This record gives sequence, structure tokens and C-alpha cells, in this order.
Amino acid sequence: MAVDSPLSSPLGPPACEKDAKALQFIEEMTRNAESVQQRVLAEILSRNAQTEYLTRFQLNGATDRETFKSKLPVITYEDLQPEIHRIANGDRSAILSAHPISEFLTSSGTSAGERKLMPTIKEELDRRQLLYSLLMPVMNLYVAGLDKGKGLYFLFVKSETMTPGGLLARPVLTSYYKSDHFKTRPYDPYNVYTSPNEAILCPDSFQSMYTQMLCGLFDRHQVLRLGAVFASGLLRAIRFLQLNWRQLAHDMETGSLNSKITDPSLRECIVKTLKPNPEFAQFVRHECSKDDWEGIIVRIWPNTKYLDVIVTGAMAQYIPTLDYYSGGLPLACTMYASSECYFGLNLNPMCKPSEVSYTIMPNMAYFEFLPHEPNLDSAGFDFTNELPPKLVDLVDVEVGKEYELVITTYAGLCRYRVGDILRVTGFHNSAPQFHFIRRKNVLLSIDSDKTDEAELQMAVENASHLLLYWELLVKDSTNSPDNDTLEQCCLAMEESLNSVYRQGRVADNSIGPLEIRVVKNGTFEELMDYAISRGASINQYKVPRC
Ligand code: AMP
Repeated sequence: MAVDSPLSSPLGPPACEKDAKALQFIEEMTRNAESVQQRVLAEILSRNAQTEYLTRFQLNGATDRETFKSKLPVITYEDLQPEIHRIANGDRSAILSAHPISEFLTSSGTSAGERKLMPTIKEELDRRQLLYSLLMPVMNLYVAGLDKGKGLYFLFVKSETMTPGGLLARPVLTSYYKSDHFKTRPYDPYNVYTSPNEAILCPDSFQSMYTQMLCGLFDRHQVLRLGAVFASGLLRAIRFLQLNWRQLAHDMETGSLNSKITDPSLRECIVKTLKPNPEFAQFVRHECSKDDWEGIIVRIWPNTKYLDVIVTGAMAQYIPTLDYYSGGLPLACTMYASSECYFGLNLNPMCKPSEVSYTIMPNMAYFEFLPHEPNLDSAGFDFTNELPPKLVDLVDVEVGKEYELVITTYAGLCRYRVGDILRVTGFHNSAPQFHFIRRKNVLLSIDSDKTDEAELQMAVENASHLLLYWELLVKDSTNSPDNDTLEQCCLAMEESLNSVYRQGRVADNSIGPLEIRVVKNGTFEELMDYAISRGASINQYKVPRC
């Protein structure tokens, strides 16, 4: 019989004692998923028993699952808007949560054109921090020696706004990077970043990106992993390098700092560490002035073992571009999270992007799953039978089935539909693992993901034809795809769309030919710039679809 030594784990041999503890925690949570979920629900319901929301539904202090499910409705953001408005306008009574709402987290999702405001409470930071602390112990199982170098991560904060009632509203990552949890994190050899806090915390995105890139270039031999939150953020960094390498090389050569870096604390921090390094400067010039940027990441950062970046869901479209720039480095998708709640992590982060599954950690919130079936309308009700929606508990989901995620959080969201569609791929102990399929209400996605038939049908009725904008990464500019090739792309797309589309297109003739418009290089970047200038967060940005 295997003896449980502190340095062993069913997940694999931990790299150090701290990792062993983290892996043990994952084992405990996933083995006891059912009892952890019951405890989480009871904790949430008992602490919030006196809130206006739970009182309204006459929960009368009950903390059991059956009463909870029979009395509380399944809701969306729109249902909660009156409460959110009151909180935003300064009502400090216990509306949703007994613990004071500490701030609003602004989601990249919108409601009626406005950014969604997610109420949160102070202690949620601890929960997020806990999930972050599990990521490296899992990664260390697959990649050795990450304590021998650094991570180059492009991380950004956004300026904050204040609601009329005086609560901060900012993206969840801004809230986290500005917290003491992040700023005063203890030294951990497995988690050393090339970017100083001052660079990450600078609200000006140019100055922040410039200095993070400069530090990353100086540390180029030490960089073992390179990343951003989403793939789009990392590609933005590459684009930034394309536009700014001359100035960056100049700074490296002379040991002086670009005069556009004006933030005093950032300037002071960078100038202190800047030393002339003509050899590195020459190298950067040599590599960046080449027309061909294939493999630029491994050329500049030769010791990079993987890219740490989310390429699941809407980000899958960027995989070929990342492969091109990185020479095919492994892409690690480590976690699945949102402004409402952090959900879980990938226990096999070096797997192929198409095989990524996230294990939901049962201690983060109370999770329910709305079976996602074509005959359920968008409100989740099966009107043909007039049945209320039947939600499934975390441990009861079935492998191969698709569900919409519904959460009840410590911050006071109750049976709240996140809008993500997930497919169960298996279990780790008794905790299910999910493949992220898509966000609901996203009509089209140009990868292998499905088009929602009901939604597509509606779009088809309103539109005469589909118009797709493509920005192409042309490897050989003398040989860009000609019209014939693009026409074949149109046909291939049409053939891959679902039967409702094809019926309208071919049999009913209600849909005209699909059109692809190739936009000039940098267009999607400009779109992102535009979104950022209108208040979007670089970390959380996702290309809009309409
Ligand atoms: P936000 O509210 O801006 O934080 O965005 C949260 C949403 O981003 C989630 O509900 C998902 O739709 C998406 N998302 C977050 N993490 C992942 C992931 N690992 N893979 C795919 N989509 C993700």
C-alpha cells in the first residue's frame, strides 16, 4: 500500500513542500466535492439569511439544498439590475450580501450596452488568491526547473470609476493587482516576474507595456515562461514590439529611458535598474528588423518552455498566430474564471488546447448546471412541457453532456446564470472537469465551435447574408491568398455552418452568399485600441461579435 508522504500526491510528485500542500488541498476538495458543496451552500445561506434578497423568497433561515432549490429562482444579470443600481447609488443595507459590498467588478460582458457591474466582498480576494496559489504547484508537476528563472507576463491595470454611491468599479484583475495580496506577495522562486509592480500598476497602457517589454528584453535569458491573461493580450504585446523595437533597442544600448515614460514612480524604478547593454540591443535590432517574424518569441527568449495564456473559447482563433510567433511552443491554459467568481483550474496544463478541461473547485462557490439542450428556449424553460428548469448539482453532471453554469456566490449572487456553456469531459476524484464550449449569446465563432441554432435562425431572419471580417497573418507577402482561395474559404465556411443556415442558404434562398472581407493588417488591433479608449480592460478584452 502506498504510504502518504508529505511529498507525494496522486497528481504526481510535488516540487517542494509548499506544492505538496497545495496538491493535497486539491485532492481534498475534489474527493469531498459533494460535502464541500453542501458546506459552501449552508455557509452562504446562513450568513446571508437576513438579506433582503433571501428574505424576499422566504427562505426563513433554511440552509438546505431542497428548500434553496424550491424557493429561489434562477436569474440573469438583468433580473438583478434593480438591486445592483441601488447598491451603486449608495444603498448600504444588506440587499444581496450580509458582508458589505467592497466594490464592483466590471465584466467584459455588457448589458444593454453598459458594462455589467458585479458586486464583490473583501474576502473574495482570499478565494481568488487561493486559486492562484494552486496554479504553479500543478504546473511544476509537468515542467521542471521553473524556479531557475522568471516569467514574462504582460499584466495591466485600468483606471477605476466611482459609482454615484461611492463604490469603486474596476475590472477584477485591476482589483487583484492593486490589492496587497498581489503587491506584497511573499517571494516565491517559482513565481518571479520580470515586470516590476510599478510597471504592472501603471494605469497608462503605453508606459506599462513599454516598461514591461523593456524589462522582459533585459531578462531575456532568464525568461522561462511568457504570457498574458488571454491570447489577445499576448499578441498585442508582440504587435507592440513590432512598433516599438527601435526605441526599446535604443534604451537598451544607452541605458537611458524613453522620455514618454513619465509616471514618476515607474520612471524611478526602471531607471534604477537600467544599464547599457549594447550587445542585447544589437541582438534585438538584428532579430526585429527581419521581415520574417516567425518564431520571434523563441528567438528573443530562447529558454521559454511554454506560453501561459488562455486559448480556449473565443481565444481559440489566435492559436495559429501564437504558434507562428512562438515556433509552436506549448500553450498552457491554466485557469477558468470570471468577474462573478473564479471557477477552477486545468490539472493537465500542458495538454493540447483542444483537450483543455477545467476542474471546478468546489470551495469557490455553490455550482449548479442547467442542462443545455436545443429544445430549451433561451430562458432555460421547456415551454413544450411547461417544466421549471431542472438544475443538476456539481457531482451529478454526466460525462459528454453540455450545461450552462449557474452559481451562488459568497458575495450574494444566487442561482445566477453565468452564460458559459460547458461540456463534461471526465472527473478528477468526484469533481467534474469541463471543456469550455462557448459563451451563450455569441452567435458565431470561426473555429470548431457550434453556432447556436435558435440564435442563428433569428440572425438569419434579420440579415440577408453573413459578413465576416478576416485579418490574415501572411507569411509570405509575395504569395497572399488570391480570390479563388478566399472563395474556397467562403464555401468551406458555408458548408461547416449548421443545417438551419444551409437550409436558408440553399433550399429557402432566404440567405445570400457568405462574404469574407479581408481587412488590412492591424485592424483588429485598432478595434482593440478603440475598445480600450472607451474603457475596456486589456486583460479581459475579447473581440466583439455581432
Ligand atoms: P469577465 O467577466 O470579463 O471576467 O469574463 C469572464 C468570461 O471570460 C467567462 O465567463 C468566460 O466566458 C470567459 N473565460 C474566462 N476564462 C476562460 C477560459 N479559461 N477559457 C475560455 N473562456 C474563458
